[in-house]
Amino acid sequence: MKVFKFGGASVKNAAAIQNVAAIVKQVESNRLLIVVSAMGKTTNALERLVHLAYNNQNFDAALHEIISYHLAIIDELHITDPDFLALIHTQFEELKQAATQKGEYDFIYDQVVAQGEILSSLILNKHLLQLGIRSTWIDARSFIQTDATWREGKVDWETSRARMQGLKKILQSQLIVTQGFIGSTINGQTTTLGREGSDYSAALFAACLSAESVTIWKDVPGVMSADPKRLPHAVVFDELPYQEAAEMTYYGASVIHPKTIKPLANSGIPLLVKNFDNPTLPGTRIHASKVEKLPPLIVFKENQCLISCKVTDYSFVNEEQLGQIFTVLSNNNVRMNVMQNSAISFSFCTDFREPKIFQVIEALSKSFEVYYNTGLTLITVKNYDTATFAEYRNRTGVLLEQSSRATLQVLVRH
Ligand code: ASP
Repeated sequence: MKVFKFGGASVKNAAAIQNVAAIVKQVESNRLLIVVSAMGKTTNALERLVHLAYNNQNFDAALHEIISYHLAIIDELHITDPDFLALIHTQFEELKQAATQKGEYDFIYDQVVAQGEILSSLILNKHLLQLGIRSTWIDARSFIQTDATWREGKVDWETSRARMQGLKKILQSQLIVTQGFIGSTINGQTTTLGREGSDYSAALFAACLSAESVTIWKDVPGVMSADPKRLPHAVVFDELPYQEAAEMTYYGASVIHPKTIKPLANSGIPLLVKNFDNPTLPGTRIHASKVEKLPPLIVFKENQCLISCKVTDYSFVNEEQLGQIFTVLSNNNVRMNVMQNSAISFSFCTDFREPKIFQVIEALSKSFEVYYNTGLTLITVKNYDTATFAEYRNRTGVLLEQSSRATLQVLVRH
């Protein structure tokens, strides 16, 4: 069997959903499991709703916007089955209830935001059924078990694998539509796997069901050497070794979620990145291979924060102090994107995620003099050549720079 993953842009309106159905029809096989994201920018809209609800502000307009967006798509797809419409209205009701329940923010976030994927998968499945495609909707929360780390659920692979085995029988006669991004705890409470986590869900289903391949359908022709909106001369990679693709995601290439490659590489399952507007294009194949001489890959990671911890007593930065800094970061689940030390200070760059970063700064301030800059961009040039090295190293506004034999990183002000 194969796994297809369609992201938000590929199901953002009725025409996009019809395009998904056209791609699915070309496969000529039932042995397909489709993982779908929330439609368009629904996850962002749901995040705004949680924020309002949690702060006891009126969220009627935000809810109404989400409801009417989905109903308009259902209408355009000519879905009139009263049972289906009743089911969708029940989901809207569940969404409202989830937003008004009491509890910690991150828990409520998961209960609310997961509804985006439930709605999109129900609508896609119904559309496929209307076209006469034999399709079954399944709730990913019954198959992907995680711990109770809200917004970043850690997957229990063994339990999830065991639960999924029954799906093989269904796949013999029909295809399956399910959700990306969501799972549930052992107690049945909904969790999410981290923003953009649907790719990871696709890898999870693929690894647990020993799929032949995973295809991620995107609005770009494949994995590119840079974001073509930023650098128009970017080229498409025909193929990439797993290791290279994994490192790209680490540096912030947003084409694939960072957790996706590992489970596929461990099971030897190829990952294809293809263009949903032009499915005949070959796209990029990520697999166990050796590719000589890759062109430089340039990744821009925005919204970075540079934090510098300076020792206050004229001593030098020592291992014990480094230990303290790392402990604060690990306790707050904050990842460093680059780090550098000098005689009296240790600096690192991280994603600027409020309020977490301010908690980190506060904790570090107990032992250090802490300085920080926000609104920065981290540029990584992997496999640089002479021209790219010179170009990015000599940028104006460089606050921090680091290079190894293969990779150059510069942190710049806008
Ligand atoms: N809908 C979720 C998000 O926007 C998950 C995903 O699309 O991968 O982050």
